Amino acid sequence: MFRSARMKLTAWYLLIIMVISIFFSLLAYRGLTTELQRGLRLHAFRDMAYVERPERAGETPPSRDFTQGPMAFRGLPPGILAFDRQLFEDARRRVVLQLIYVNFGILAISGMAGYFLAGRTLRPIETMLEEQKRFIADASHELRTPLTALKTEIEVGLRDKNLDTELAKELLHSNLEEVDKLKLLSDDLLSLSSYQRENNREFSNVALGEVFDEAFGIVKALAREKEVEVRHALDDITIEANRQSLVKLFVILLDNAIKYSPEQRIVDVGATVRKNQAVIKVRDEGIGIRAGDLPYIFKRFYRADVSRNKGEVSGYGLGLSIAKSIIDIHDGAVDVMSEPDKGTTFTITLPLRHKKKVL
Ligand code: ADP
Repeated sequence: MFRSARMKLTAWYLLIIMVISIFFSLLAYRGLTTELQRGLRLHAFRDMAYVERPERAGETPPSRDFTQGPMAFRGLPPGILAFDRQLFEDARRRVVLQLIYVNFGILAISGMAGYFLAGRTLRPIETMLEEQKRFIADASHELRTPLTALKTEIEVGLRDKNLDTELAKELLHSNLEEVDKLKLLSDDLLSLSSYQRENNREFSNVALGEVFDEAFGIVKALAREKEVEVRHALDDITIEANRQSLVKLFVILLDNAIKYSPEQRIVDVGATVRKNQAVIKVRDEGIGIRAGDLPYIFKRFYRADVSRNKGEVSGYGLGLSIAKSIIDIHDGAVDVMSEPDKGTTFTITLPLRHKKKVL
């Protein structure tokens, strides 16, 4: 598909360039031949003036013209006329030949350049399509797992002739868990696509302390369950940001810090201002991330060390991709330092003032 689209685009480029080139060649042809005729006519008038002088009557003038015009009926010798018409025809033929060569040259060069440019134009589109295909494949794969579990449980329950109320309730509870997983996944997918698509969100002055409080309210239950203490020192920093997405960013980082920490550890959240930027740090004493996994953790559906995490800690590997999209919306940056079994620190830098983008 990419190849045929590239050929079609090249053909369009060629068509446009050749129409322009032929148009200008015709203009050049007209201009040149007119100028040539004008020049030859000028010579003819000079010649006429030369031969009309009484003392030179009957002599051949030193320069001569041409094809038509006043010379013919002013009685110049016919030899002069034939010679000049020949001169004009030769020059005209040379001009035509040169314009044809030039046009062939333009055709060849623009063919190659057009093919190269068409490739460059289409490459980002191809990459985006590939990315989308991969995304759909990954999302369907992740959706299939809880759906299959749900289906199997229902089928087993239906086949069981001795299914009593107790067992049926157990089954429904398990079904509900799978449905919750599906909801979490679809919510994450929706968040990801909305943060990637909408970059015209409303920005206002947001106090980081308030954002933390709101985010902590969401992850509080998990922290309590794991007896993880979450400390914070956010001073009185206010930044121009989209409040709702900043809360989501804090939720993702806090949720991960708690999720990937053994029980009774500490999570520290701090922020300082440096050179018109807020530097936010979320540090945990959790399982850490291996150096080999670090470059990939912001990729969609990537879960570091699958054997260690999968099954034990819930998640679909979408949290950090969403976090990255939110940081991008704010023109910020993120850095991760981690040591396996020691802990991880995420450092997020966000500008204090939001630069409005001209769309
Ligand atoms: P998930 O839903 O798996 O948590 P994320 O995109 O939030 O997805 O994170 C991607 C991967 O990065 C996780 O699977 C985990 O392996 C690793 N990770 C993220 N945050 C931490 C952390 N604070 N400590 C250890 N590993 C982390």
